[in-house]
Amino acid sequence: MTKIGFIGLGVMGTPMAAHLAAAGHEVGGYDTHADARAKLESAGGRAATGVADAVAEADVVITMLPNHPQVEAVVLGPGGVLESAKPGTLLADMSTIRPETSIALAERAAAREIRVLDAPVSGGQAGAEQAALSIMVGGEAADFAAALPVFEVVGKTIAHVGPHGAGQVVKAANQLVVGGVYGLVAEAIVLLEASGVDAATGLDVLAGGLAGSRILDLKRKSMVARDFRPGFRIDLHHKDMGIALAAARQADVALPLTGLVAQLVAAGRAMGHGSLDHSALLKVVEELSGR
Ligand code: NAD
Repeated sequence: MTKIGFIGLGVMGTPMAAHLAAAGHEVGGYDTHADARAKLESAGGRAATGVADAVAEADVVITMLPNHPQVEAVVLGPGGVLESAKPGTLLADMSTIRPETSIALAERAAAREIRVLDAPVSGGQAGAEQAALSIMVGGEAADFAAALPVFEVVGKTIAHVGPHGAGQVVKAANQLVVGGVYGLVAEAIVLLEASGVDAATGLDVLAGGLAGSRILDLKRKSMVARDFRPGFRIDLHHKDMGIALAAARQADVALPLTGLVAQLVAAGRAMGHGSLDHSALLKVVEELSGR
């Protein structure tokens, strides 16, 4: 049994914290939303009164927050993880943020003897609910080994991919592929429908051939039905495309398709679809086609 402080009980954090509690770990969780804290209590965890209360006695702290400003506030801010956790605590930031922030956090935390891993995830809400996430971890090998039993409760494909920040670079690569596939599935649907072909039947065939993908498997029915409830919001994917392009600049490489997909995602946000699921890229492609 590990004492876990869990900060950020949203779409992903709520099922992850529930799995950790169900596995017998002592989970103290905090979210600014009271209903999220109530859900943790009904899943067998303890609703903490704040970040400090959640992390003070923890051996492992997990953060699952929207972006780097929230992670910085929770980790570095007053009453935050660095101020409130015991020396020796392991902090696994499972949010998707910029690699350079993960590197900077690890440096700041080392001065307080707090060990940090960047451990972003892929698999979406379904992956979190089914405890089947992919977890890409950057940091020290010994810290990865220490955190592995906790990661194994929520994940299935778990890899140590390099030093601090490397987990976030792998996640950026993941997000550019996911965004690109959604964009192309959206284009396929628009082409099929505009040509008078039944899109559902067409995509069933695609899913069984070389074009098959997990996105087609999981999302083709909801896309054809125009069910864009999140899931993963366009706003968050917009953030992730920015991270991918910044990482490309840092690595001095050209990613032309990623640039194009980033503009599609930006258009979705500009059209007011930021709180819809990222499969709503279909609405953007439809609009571009005057449909
Ligand atoms: P979310 O917005 O549903 O959840 C974030 C939670 O953090 C919210 O409940 C919010 O109230 C809470 N929060 C914000 N600031 C806080 C603070 N200062 N203190 C305490 N709680 C605070 O987001 P999500 O979809 O769960 O995503 C979380 C992270 O995981 C993001 O970085 C996202 O990019 C990544 N991610 C999401 C998915 C997905 O499918 N939703 C998949 C993979 C990765």
